[in-house]
Amino acid sequence: MFTFGATEGAQELVKKSDYERLINEFGAKSIDDEIISSFRKPHKFLLMKLFYAHRDLDLYLKERLNGRPVSIVSGRGPSNYMHIGHLVIFEFVKWLQDELDAEVYIPLSDDEKYVFGKVKSLDQAYTYAVDNALDLIALGFKEGKTFFFVSTRLSEIYELSVTLSRYLTFNTVRATFGLEGEGVNSGVVFYAAVQAAHILLPTAKKGLFVLVPIAMDQDPYMRLTRDIAVKAGFKKPAAVYSKYISGLTREPMSASKPETSVFLIDSEEDVRKKIWTAFTGGRPTVEEQRKFGGNPDICVVYEWLKVFIFKDLKTMDEHARKCRSGELLCGECKRMLADGLIKKLAEHKARKKQALKVIDRFFLHEIEIPEEIIKLLE
Ligand code: SF4
Repeated sequence: MFTFGATEGAQELVKKSDYERLINEFGAKSIDDEIISSFRKPHKFLLMKLFYAHRDLDLYLKERLNGRPVSIVSGRGPSNYMHIGHLVIFEFVKWLQDELDAEVYIPLSDDEKYVFGKVKSLDQAYTYAVDNALDLIALGFKEGKTFFFVSTRLSEIYELSVTLSRYLTFNTVRATFGLEGEGVNSGVVFYAAVQAAHILLPTAKKGLFVLVPIAMDQDPYMRLTRDIAVKAGFKKPAAVYSKYISGLTREPMSASKPETSVFLIDSEEDVRKKIWTAFTGGRPTVEEQRKFGGNPDICVVYEWLKVFIFKDLKTMDEHARKCRSGELLCGECKRMLADGLIKKLAEHKARKKQALKVIDRFFLHEIEIPEEIIKLLE
C-alpha cells in the first residue's frame, strides 16, 4: 500500500534504527539547524524532529528564496473517515503553504484504494474522498492556491500516467512495491505510474518545483518517482520525511483498529474512553508514581500531548520534568489530553461544516456532494 503523504501505513512499529537507516543507508539528509532557521517561524514539528529528514529540501528552499514559485503535493487515500493522525502531515503542509506561499495539490487516490481492494467500489472511495477533502479544507488551506482532485476524475492524470508509464518497467514496479504472486491485478501495476503523475502534475503543468511531505517508510516510492522524473526530463521532486506517531495502544494508528486512534467523527464519549485506556509510562500505583516518577519517553499520552496539544518545546520539556519528578499523575494527563482533543474536534467539525459551502472552489474538476456526507454534518 503506498498512499504518499499519510502517516498511516506502517504495519509494524517503526524502530529508531529505521529512522536512522533512511539517512545512513538510503541517502536522505537530516533536517539541520540551517534549514530550520531559514523559516520565519519554524513549526513545532520541525523543532521536535517529527519531520527529521529530506531529499533536496535545501535546493527547494533556495528556489523559493530566489523568488520562484513552488508547489507541494500531499495525497490522501480515501478508504475511510479520517483520524487525527492523518491531519498531522496536512497541518504541516498548511504551515508550509503559509510560509512559502506555495500552491498545494491534494490528489485523492480513489484508484489506489480500489485496485488494492481497500474499498468495494470507486463510488465508495469517492464518498470518502469528498468527506476527507472537507476535513482538509477545514484546516484552512488557501482558496485559489490549493487544488484537490479525485484521481479517476481528472483526465490530465490519465494522460500524464500513460506518458510516465514508458519509463517504468514491470520489474521495477514489482521490486519497489514488493508485489508477489500471480494474483496481482494490472491496476496495481499501473498505479505506480499514476502515483508518479500525482507528484509530477504541478511540474508537468506549470514547471513548478515540487515538495512532497511524506511518512519515512514511503521513501522507496519517492525514489522511484524521482528516477522517473529524471528519465522523463522533469525536475526531481524534493521530499521531507516524518517519523510515525504511536497509536493509543502503542500499535500503529489504523483505521481498521478504532482503539488505536481518535477519528474526526468520534463522539466526546468515544474520545474519553479511548484516551482513558491509552498506554502510558506511569507506575502501577499512585504511591510509586509520586516516589519514582513516570517515564515520558515511552508514554503515548505524552507523545499525543506534544503533537496535538502543546504549542512549544518549553511546555513539552516542563511537562516531561513534572512527570519524571512524580508531580504528575497519569489521570491528570489523560484528562488534559481528552479535554484538548474534544475541543479540537468540536472546532474542526464547525470548520468542516463551513467547508461544505466552498468545497467546489477547491477542486480541479466538477464535484457532487454525496447525501451521506451532508447527513453526517447535520
Ligand atoms: Fe505519561 Fe503523564 Fe503518566 Fe507521565 S504522568 S507517564 S506523562 S501520562
